[in-house]
Amino acid sequence: MPALLLGPGIVLAQAQPHEAPPPLDGAEFARCLGQLRASADFKAIQPATFARYTDGLAPDPTVLPLLNRQPEFTLPPWDYLAMLVDDERVADGRAAMARWSKELQQIEQTTGVPAAVVAGVWGVESNFGQNLGGRPLVTSLATLSCFGRRQSYFRGEFAAALRILQEGHIAPDKLTGSWAGAFGQTQFMPSTFFRSAVDFDGDGRRDIVDSVPDALASTAKFLQNAGWRRGQPWGFEVRLPKGLDTSDAGRRNKLPIDAWRRLGVTLADGSPLPDTLPAAGLLLPARDWGAGPAFLVGRNFDALYSYNASENYALAIAQLSNLLGGQTQQVGFVTPWPTDDPGLSRAQNRELQTLLLQRGHDIGAADGLIGAKTREAIKAEQQRLGMKADGRAGQKLLGALRG
Ligand code: CA
Repeated sequence: MPALLLGPGIVLAQAQPHEAPPPLDGAEFARCLGQLRASADFKAIQPATFARYTDGLAPDPTVLPLLNRQPEFTLPPWDYLAMLVDDERVADGRAAMARWSKELQQIEQTTGVPAAVVAGVWGVESNFGQNLGGRPLVTSLATLSCFGRRQSYFRGEFAAALRILQEGHIAPDKLTGSWAGAFGQTQFMPSTFFRSAVDFDGDGRRDIVDSVPDALASTAKFLQNAGWRRGQPWGFEVRLPKGLDTSDAGRRNKLPIDAWRRLGVTLADGSPLPDTLPAAGLLLPARDWGAGPAFLVGRNFDALYSYNASENYALAIAQLSNLLGGQTQQVGFVTPWPTDDPGLSRAQNRELQTLLLQRGHDIGAADGLIGAKTREAIKAEQQRLGMKADGRAGQKLLGALRG
């Protein structure tokens, strides 16, 4: 989550299989750790803690190509939403909400963040606790603190990670996550942990890895800290009158809801805008592609946005939470996206990968994640079929390979 680098709408080149990670100098690493230990960033870390987790530690050179990778291309919003909000995630989310309904209800009462929104974040961040990331945080963050760009940022995160261990919140072997240090069911960065993590189950530890109640309450606390307003929706899909000037569109350019009414904006089904949202900005996620659904979004959408600094990401949580909260029945919006080749769900991605494997492409396992090898195989098939060879996984290609 928070924040680093690139929003989830960006597909990252994984072309770096060719790029061997740089060899890292062990002596330089040891010198750097020695300097860090004595620096102001680490003043809250006892020498024994520092030594316990860094003595004999080897740097992990594989995080550096990930730090330096460049976006390959930007996913259109419909591809992104197809993957993040599919029937599978809705079904998993309903089961997860049923299992944790008592805790979610309590959290909703104290924070004002609806159970379906907390579950929506949980589902998009870690697939309801199923994908936490397996890289040891101390190794990744120590490496990023001593090599590569943004070292000062990562030093703060490294110090916070050691403090989490020093205070005993998370078992040392459970402190694993993404290459950049996001961890746990909520994928917090270590510094976010100290701002937003909550001990909900009352055992004295804020364990967002192994305690689902702690993780759910921490997600709600994060959104509360980000300005969540009790009783307000994130926003809604709307219908715009013909000829409306949308040059000022943007989630930050909020107008009172009455001003939008006077401009002739209605809900997507044509009914009047409700009073539940005092002010809203106009979000047009597919404007660069021509048209597509339009949304009025309020302060709570901004809170979702702050989780990962991506409007497509916030929209995925918003849509998933509507589905989990029973406010809408179908995946997708009333207004179709401006494409004749919609994106694929994870189940369809797996089917596509299985078809590619059957055609002899060496793409590893059919895991539903479209990486560099799958993209290369897609390009080869697109070329063979006389389609535009852009490496994108879409319905047309899937249909053609099904034969
Ligand atoms: Ca706890």
